[in-house]
Amino acid sequence: MILQNDFKRQWEQVQERVLEAVRRVGASGWFILGKEVEALETALAEFWGVSHAIGTGNGLDALEIGLRCLGLRPGDKVLTTPLSAFATTLAIVRAGGFPVFVDVDDLGCIDLQQCREALEGDGSIHFLLPVHLYGFALPMQELGRLKNDFDLRIIEDCAQSIGASYAGTGTGTAGQAAATSFYPTKNLGAIGDGGALLTNDESVAKTARALRDYGQTDHYVHTRLGLNSRLDEIHAAIMRDAFLPHLVSWTEARRRTAARYLHEIRNPAIQLLAPAPAMNPAWHLFPVLVPANSRGHFRRHLESHAITTSVHYPRLICDQAALEQTSWKCAREPVNARKFAGRELSLPIHPFLTEDEVDRVIAACNAWNPKEQ
Ligand SMILES: *Cc1c(COP(=O)(O)O)cnc(C)c1O
Repeated sequence: MILQNDFKRQWEQVQERVLEAVRRVGASGWFILGKEVEALETALAEFWGVSHAIGTGNGLDALEIGLRCLGLRPGDKVLTTPLSAFATTLAIVRAGGFPVFVDVDDLGCIDLQQCREALEGDGSIHFLLPVHLYGFALPMQELGRLKNDFDLRIIEDCAQSIGASYAGTGTGTAGQAAATSFYPTKNLGAIGDGGALLTNDESVAKTARALRDYGQTDHYVHTRLGLNSRLDEIHAAIMRDAFLPHLVSWTEARRRTAARYLHEIRNPAIQLLAPAPAMNPAWHLFPVLVPANSRGHFRRHLESHAITTSVHYPRLICDQAALEQTSWKCAREPVNARKFAGRELSLPIHPFLTEDEVDRVIAACNAWNPKEQ
């Protein structure tokens, strides 16, 4: 079976270093907020090309903490996308914000032109939470222009985009802060939950360090109402020793597979999403679009060839029942996002695929005939 994520193959590659890291932390007798977390934060900031990384319990908390560091107050509007992990919007709501949804572009990413129009039409919006979805990179220069033109506070959701860039600029560097996730399926995944906030702003970093630890700035000195969202030492050690050193080669493997899919899948019923030449995606996922009435048939066809697929995302965030419990609005009817919800399917693109498996995925895609359903 060709899986969406092959954790067993990953384990074969990382297990020695994972176990060494576990032994080291166990022997150190120090398990929360110590030198392992600091060392991972330094390595991560360096990898990302930013001044500060702050480890958190997960990506959701990193986003919430980031919004609060940027000064979000209850009722503040936050522009965002309805096509993402629910956590993107949940972070806004938990921080007390009011989500305002705009539609997505042809790649499924938040439409920056619509953001501009929404900002021109509503002077009370001061926050933007864009998502570099699927591992694509939004045009970083345009994000920077939006920030300047509207004096915006931006926190980029980079949970899927570690290592992605646009015109040479890495995601997570246009706004005042960015958040990422170490959920196991992510490009830099842990063996459990974890996340981080990235920023070049010293005061944001300082506030984030307090917020993740009950809001304390010193022992038993609480200046804010914080969270308990600490990355543990054991995870920090595992990630730095066993996972981070592979990230570049794992990303290259994803890119090789993506290049083959883009060149070799030739089926008029399957619409490939080709990124702009300036974009260097991290290919967290490989989304394709098929006619809405044949997505089920395509999935079953691939399943019959022992190929697992998934859908990102079948239901828009603004259509989730949980949002009935809070206030939000759509700046525009999310027509494109609905198209993705009905038509998207993700092909396997994890770094442990063999050439032979990539061949099989391509052959199965090319052999699919939606008229046979
Ligand atoms: C995974 C993900 C998150 C949430 O990260 P967790 O670590 O699961 O809390 C947020 N946004 C996006 C786009 C994600 O893919």
